[in-house]
Amino acid sequence: MSSSPRVTRAAVPVSAQLFDRASSVIPGGVNSPVRAFASVGGTPRFIASAAGCTLTDADGNDYVDLVCSWGPMILGHAHPAVVEAVRTAAGGGLSFGAPTEAEIELAEAIAARVDPVQRVRLVNSGTEATMSAVRLARGYTGRAKIVKFAGCYHGHVDALLADAGSGVATLGLPTSPGVTGAQAADTLVLPYNDLEAVAAAFAAYPDEIACVITEAAAGNMGAVAPLPGFNEGLRKLTADNGALLIMDEVMTGFRVSAAGWYGREGVAGDLYTFGKVMSGGLPAAAFGGRAEIMNHLAPLGPVYQAGTLSGNPVAVAAGLATLRAADAEVYAALDRNAERLGGLLTEALTAAGVEHHVQFAGNMVSVFFADRPVTDYAAAKASQTWRFPAFFHALLDAGVYAPPSAYEAWFVSAALDENAFDRIAAALPAAASAAAAATPEGSRA
Ligand SMILES: *Cc1c(COP(=O)(O)O)cnc(C)c1O
Repeated sequence: MSSSPRVTRAAVPVSAQLFDRASSVIPGGVNSPVRAFASVGGTPRFIASAAGCTLTDADGNDYVDLVCSWGPMILGHAHPAVVEAVRTAAGGGLSFGAPTEAEIELAEAIAARVDPVQRVRLVNSGTEATMSAVRLARGYTGRAKIVKFAGCYHGHVDALLADAGSGVATLGLPTSPGVTGAQAADTLVLPYNDLEAVAAAFAAYPDEIACVITEAAAGNMGAVAPLPGFNEGLRKLTADNGALLIMDEVMTGFRVSAAGWYGREGVAGDLYTFGKVMSGGLPAAAFGGRAEIMNHLAPLGPVYQAGTLSGNPVAVAAGLATLRAADAEVYAALDRNAERLGGLLTEALTAAGVEHHVQFAGNMVSVFFADRPVTDYAAAKASQTWRFPAFFHALLDAGVYAPPSAYEAWFVSAALDENAFDRIAAALPAAASAAAAATPEGSRA
């Protein structure tokens, strides 16, 4: 051991050692592809702990967290009320495979916040929620086809992977091997924000489309809000054609307002999917809607859906504690923090002379290196995403943890404080210069 204070770090960072070790037992070293830094280069940081707005990695480096576990951690990490609720629930037993009172409370909390939701079923992930909602829509309507939008991600459900956003976009995959032609054949993929395309699909396949599934506001190709009238148009077209409208609020739900995107826009879907925030960071998700539709689920109806760990008491406790702590002050802080982050991004990139567009979907933020607002996946893909790796790594080196992909939204928490914003403001000028200096060939490998 050296006594020199400068030799406090291993020659090979601990994160890099862990990534090496992980890669020999976990495919790509990660349990979800976008964590792998595949599109930005370098090795992912292994996180040792987190508190408030700060992540600490295995080397002891601190980062201002602008990912928030991809959305859930609106209160910040290790929020005392949530941790206490989890401890208490865990002490009372981890899983029963039988109903509990807390499940009712969480379902009631969701239904109380989102008006069009009268019945709720709890599941374990957003993927399961959308998969179940689509099955229910097909079972309810007796139709096979579904409409999704390019760049929208609804989890890794076979039928929903075509032209998906998030990691599928980050890795440049059109769809996935392993999804058979039969599984994808009934999925129509249309451009986001294009009502004419939706009307044309209904005209081409009368009485065949079970549902339109959309992110209530897209966040998985970067933050791309629906254009005024888009969700309303979907509402009308689906109703006119006997199809259901599934609002996927896994990302937006209980983040962009107490009632999610519905709370901002007021367009009612027939079915909703939730995840992320409503589980407080533990594995839980939900889908819900009108009683008349939801009652087609087993055991009341013939559409089967189940789960050994669904409604898990520890996950439910974390979700309930999170929703209870998320008061008006928290939502005001989220909006304020998003606006402040967006302002800092715009200021630094403008000063560095980089063509860019900072855009919002509620309090989700994105930086597009583009000369105009991005309203669909084609425009997102046409942006200068090659500027992103240099931008990302300069921020990371300065202790600011942004999502490691040009196609992901940035997530603020209510826990961001003055010190965090000082660090962001200090990091941005060099990052903006790095983005300005980047070239299409030069992305860091
Ligand atoms: C994250 C996400 C999902 C998938 O949720 P998982 O819990 O990762 O399976 C589905 N839809 C949207 C809109 C999401 O953002």
